[in-house]
Amino acid sequence: MIILVLNSGSSSIKYQLFNIEEQEQLLAKGIVERIGIEGGALKHCVNGVSQLIVEKSIPDHTVGLKLIFDHLTSAEGGVLKELSEIDAVGHRVVHGGELFKESIVINDNVKQQVVECAELAPLHNPANLKGILSVEVLLPDVQQVAVFDTSFHQTMPKHAFLYGIPYQFYEKYKIRRYGFHGISHKYVAQIGAKLCNKEFTKSKIITCHLGNGASITAIENGESIDTSMGFTPVTGLMMGTRCGSLDPGILLFLEEKEQLSIRGISSLINKQSGLQGISGISSDMRDIEQAAGEGIYRAQLALDMYVYRLRKKIASFIGALDGIDMLVFTGGIGENSYRVREEVCKKLSFLGLQVDSHRNMETCGQTGIISSHESSVSVAVVNTNEELVIARETYGILNNTNKG
Ligand code: ADP
Repeated sequence: MIILVLNSGSSSIKYQLFNIEEQEQLLAKGIVERIGIEGGALKHCVNGVSQLIVEKSIPDHTVGLKLIFDHLTSAEGGVLKELSEIDAVGHRVVHGGELFKESIVINDNVKQQVVECAELAPLHNPANLKGILSVEVLLPDVQQVAVFDTSFHQTMPKHAFLYGIPYQFYEKYKIRRYGFHGISHKYVAQIGAKLCNKEFTKSKIITCHLGNGASITAIENGESIDTSMGFTPVTGLMMGTRCGSLDPGILLFLEEKEQLSIRGISSLINKQSGLQGISGISSDMRDIEQAAGEGIYRAQLALDMYVYRLRKKIASFIGALDGIDMLVFTGGIGENSYRVREEVCKKLSFLGLQVDSHRNMETCGQTGIISSHESSVSVAVVNTNEELVIARETYGILNNTNKG
């Protein structure tokens, strides 16, 4: 069964094509960028090797998708003889609100509900929907499945997902913690559990997804019981350019002192804060680590704040879980930065948690256990693979639906 996975953004479409029944083989992947703006381009890779880069104007998502299809079936770099070989399309959909607790086969009703959730994710859901509608135009007979970034967190109890503001705003506008990165948190927890000989459905696990965006999740017996991102993905941990948790009074103060508009505040908390805002150098952890190594004060400060805030959040989630069996790191920083992992774990030794420094330094960009044999808590690094999860979900759901 050939499954195309699409992650449609407002001006880009990332794609991966899997032959799911042939050992989940990745046939091709790539990205269409700058849709609707000058400088449109397609980058297409086969077997991990960049095959070609096409630069041309891409006015909308349907044209972008057509370009992807042309290259999937082209003589050079093509991996399919014809498009009809694609059996199904799985979409990453960012926000499923309270409506979607699981992945689902897309029909008119689902599309309408994705539109309803767009109020909660105005940058993401409309773009996800454009991807779905473009597939309908170009591959009208193919079944599509939506996999939501928020679904895994729908098991959080009310006392964890509500904010301390008047209850009427939850009832009226559904203001609550939703959480994101759910596809990744669930996947790395399951892989980590297998690796460390734990039962996913009988363990207390904390997963740290540390990419440009970052969040951590407390998982009890296979269910998310709390997570650090909230109503939006700007809160929780300090990130590349996002501020993470913040006293909301600061924004009221700045609005007055700096005459900041709503747009200005949005840019401040989403684009100018985090590692970038503190260091004044970069939002990229590699640059921050290098600059800190060269003794640049604000880079070291950004690193210290990043680690401190992450460790504090982990400790608070240990409280939420009443214990911890396993800690998992993933995302670009979690998978690669042995320094961040070491610094975070160092002051969790009161738990009996011990990281083996050799294993930690060796495990960069790959999956492995980094805790010592004596550690009372297993610590693992797991390479996340959200596209593969979407392909598996799509396969699983369609197999069940078509059988039923
Ligand atoms: P996204 O959230 O956009 O998918 P990634 O998961 O790719 O992002 O993570 C990007 C982050 O990972 C950047 O801050 C980058 O600096 C960091 N990163 C990647 N490789 C390394 C490395 N070797 N050491 C430290 N940080 C790294």
